[in-house]
Amino acid sequence: MSKINYDINLLNQTINQWKGAQKNDELDDIWPLCDEYMEDNCKQCPIAQTTGKPLCRTTPYKDFTLHMALEHSEIEPAIRCNKCKHFANSMVQFLENILIKLNSQAHMLKK
Ligand SMILES: [Zn+2]
Repeated sequence: MSKINYDINLLNQTINQWKGAQKNDELDDIWPLCDEYMEDNCKQCPIAQTTGKPLCRTTPYKDFTLHMALEHSEIEPAIRCNKCKHFANSMVQFLENILIKLNSQAHMLKK
């Protein structure tokens, strides 16, 4: 499988994880993209390649963890209030935009 298709697969898994969180109120803190790319300081991660920053800095994830720390005294994102839901939604939208970009790149490569 090419890297781009592999990344699309990982992104889809990540989006499903965020969507699942909204139903179950809990988030699995093992993230498929982190699992694959964090070791190398996120250099190959499609999120970091979009934002130019490692560790999901400048993504809704960062705002979410800050909110968790300040409002809920927790480290990992979970759904505890309506604001939490808002951050989870923002993350889904953010990831879906990257997915659209990768899908169109994959489509161009096929031509
Ligand atoms: Zn909250």
